[in-house]
Amino acid sequence: MTEHASATSQEQQPQSHEFQAEVQQLLDILVHSLYSHKEIFLRELLSNAVDALDKMRFEQLTLSSSDAASLPLEIRIECDETKGRLTMTDTGVGMTRDELVENIGTIARSGTARYLSHLSDEAKQDSNFIGQFGVGFYSVFMVAEKVRIITCSYRPDSVPVFWESDGRGTYTIAQHADSPRGTRIEIDLKKDENRFAKPQTIREIVQKHSNYVPYPIKLAGTAINEVSALWRRPKQEIAQEDYQEFYKFITGRTENPLSILHFSLDTPYQLHALLYVPPQTLDFMGLPEMRPTLSLYSRRVLIQRDCKELLPDYLHFLAGLVDVEDLPLNISREGFQRDRNLQLLQKLLTKKFLSHLQETAKKDSDLYSRFYRIFGHTLKQGFQTDFGNRDRIVPLLRFNSSTCDDDHLSVSLANYVQRMKDDQKEIFYLCGAHRESLLRSPHLEVFRAKEIEVLFLTDPMDDLVLTTLQTFQEKPFAAADQADLGLTVQEKDEEEEPLSSRARLDRLLVKMGKLLESRVVEVRQSKRLKKSPCALVNPQNSATAGIQKLMSLMDKEFQLSRRILEINGKHPIIRGLAQIHDKEPNAPVIEHAAHLLLDSAMLQEDLPVAPREMAPRLESVLEELTRLRAISGTTPPTP
Ligand code: ADP
Ligand code: MG
Repeated sequence: MTEHASATSQEQQPQSHEFQAEVQQLLDILVHSLYSHKEIFLRELLSNAVDALDKMRFEQLTLSSSDAASLPLEIRIECDETKGRLTMTDTGVGMTRDELVENIGTIARSGTARYLSHLSDEAKQDSNFIGQFGVGFYSVFMVAEKVRIITCSYRPDSVPVFWESDGRGTYTIAQHADSPRGTRIEIDLKKDENRFAKPQTIREIVQKHSNYVPYPIKLAGTAINEVSALWRRPKQEIAQEDYQEFYKFITGRTENPLSILHFSLDTPYQLHALLYVPPQTLDFMGLPEMRPTLSLYSRRVLIQRDCKELLPDYLHFLAGLVDVEDLPLNISREGFQRDRNLQLLQKLLTKKFLSHLQETAKKDSDLYSRFYRIFGHTLKQGFQTDFGNRDRIVPLLRFNSSTCDDDHLSVSLANYVQRMKDDQKEIFYLCGAHRESLLRSPHLEVFRAKEIEVLFLTDPMDDLVLTTLQTFQEKPFAAADQADLGLTVQEKDEEEEPLSSRARLDRLLVKMGKLLESRVVEVRQSKRLKKSPCALVNPQNSATAGIQKLMSLMDKEFQLSRRILEINGKHPIIRGLAQIHDKEPNAPVIEHAAHLLLDSAMLQEDLPVAPREMAPRLESVLEELTRLRAISGTTPPTP
């Protein structure tokens, strides 16, 4: 193209600049990574052009800037196969020299490149990093030998600027003689990327990734896209793929969304909304959420990208847009944020989305459980903060329970209540780190014996939610490890213990109580243990174990409250100890065993024990055992 030759000759004092170190690092990664979807550079450039056009449309409607109106809002693509060159021009807001240096040449989010350099090659290939990290423009260097930008800001008296770089450390920047408003990007393609100079390739990519761009994309003078705002079209006419591609376009991701909610309303606002649930939380690997969440439009004009006020904090994972018919456009963006309309919109969208979840849970429980696994925790935060919507959030809660066959979170509170025994008054739950450890818990024994379901709470937030809620359908919640359960496993036909052995057990319990005085509130006989020798229960008035765990996570100094050690009087260990105690009340094995039993009960609850004290006791008990065995000369019977 001769344009370029003339462009360079018209430059005045070209200046060479170095890329910010981070940009250079990023460029190296991009060029060297074997990114398998190189075509996405086109999507990134188009998305920047759309941004610029959106901004221009907004300016046209708010300011009465004169020349602005004269140019149509559009994108033009030119292909030159013989030169191996692809050119994209938009009539958006353009950039001033300062903006150009600021936007292209630095990375706003510091640490991005450092983070990216730690990704494995594989992760670089299939992660969505390019769009998400706000580094979309640089992806052009995956296919470009050299890139030139000629841009002119819409602002009055702006001077066109020329920028050029091969992506290897430096770029030059200079004034440019004449150029209309907007941005023109000329890409000299690498030898082996020449396919991107073929009109057919470009047409295919645009139609695949950017068909619903709301401005004409012209190739050799004719529009190759549909130019319609997807969200304003009737739902029945939109294919699933269109929704998905649009999601990828606005978020810069490559995976499909988990769930989509598209609706239009007439009252109290006339609006169109398109909400997407991403397939994973956005702050993956500890990075804060990245690109646009929910954008606010009014009559197809972008008012604000990433408009946080549209949703409560706990729903900020949602991406998409809301297009409202009647919003005053001339209001300043700052002023708009405090607008009452926004608060009402927030309420409306929240309600709509929560009912969408309820419907999803009903229609597609698999999908809902995938959603819940990722965002369940966030919903519980919503329960704690969004009082107005508690009634909508509670039916969305899911748990695992003692009746589940797998570790899926599939039990709702309503499911539980439906399965309650006739004489059962409370909803029982048990907190712990995982299902496996909960299944082994001695606290379950009595519930197993009575075939009563117990909810497993594996997220510390669960306990907080249930404690706050107190009841569900008038049934109170009760922790399965609370002291006064009112359930026993005693079987009727079992022979009454002779008085003498009961007295003997009492004496042992009194002794253990003394020995363990500093570690537990009380040692007492249990009515609910079947197999285990002992278990720790929570005194009635203290916070539940789950809440205490939550507190200790938040506050390192937090002291867990002492518990009650319940002893199973029928267990052989306990019986044996009681006998020894009667013969030799001060036998060292009594003291060691008392502490070891408590240690073992603590381990069952995932509570920390003091290994330095535990180890010598364990050794001394083993020593005694082996000595006895050696004396009696017997070996254990072979099964
Ligand atoms: P992002 O789009 O996430 O901000 P990019 O690397 O794609 O990151 O673009 C960086 C910035 O460069 C944009 O935010 C925008 O300010 C500016 N920019 C890029 N392309 C254009 C364009 N065609 N017109 C105006 N500004 C642009
Ligand atoms: Mg971009």
